[in-house]
Amino acid sequence: MLEKSRIVRGRGLLWLLLVLLLTQASAFRTVVIDPGHGGKDDGAKRYGVKEKDLNLDTAKRLEKILKRHGLHVVMTRRSDRYLRLQERAKIANRYQDAIFISIHYNAHRDASVKGIETFYATLAGRKLAAGIQDLLTRRIGTRNRGIKVGKQYAVLNKTRLVSVLVEGGFISNPWERRRLNGAWYRQIVAEQIAKGILIHR
Ligand SMILES: [Zn+2]
Repeated sequence: MLEKSRIVRGRGLLWLLLVLLLTQASAFRTVVIDPGHGGKDDGAKRYGVKEKDLNLDTAKRLEKILKRHGLHVVMTRRSDRYLRLQERAKIANRYQDAIFISIHYNAHRDASVKGIETFYATLAGRKLAAGIQDLLTRRIGTRNRGIKVGKQYAVLNKTRLVSVLVEGGFISNPWERRRLNGAWYRQIVAEQIAKGILIHR
């Protein structure tokens, strides 16, 4: 009898540990959204379409969806202002139970280059990036450029959180620029990123 209860208690502890580990791995209450560029830094720009504006608009749409799902949202900027990359990382690092999403749109010298790609810096970030990239390209018909290691991005390697950087399309590609200049497109980008975040929970 004594032996048996010891085993049962041992198993119970193991289960408790497992549950704790699993819930710890994915527990986050806060999403730090970082609309790339801003103020004097336009980011990519073609024919009057500025990346900084698209980033901020997409970020606000994402914020609205996440709040509706009960998540706490922090924005690194919510107006057209300049913020250094270190400042963005510093804001993110104030939170522990959080993930970090940086929103960008792309540009290339070759106007035929198009598509969506998502960057990450750590293994935990890779999982989140893969989920978001999959959901984005499943809904948006463009080239799937895949997930990539983005250790060169200060916002990724200076944040202690699970962090990803989404490049939602190329401003330099005429076909894609027309699309991402439309509110409907940025709404879809926001919705798919939100889904990727919510399943990661
Ligand atoms: Zn950018």
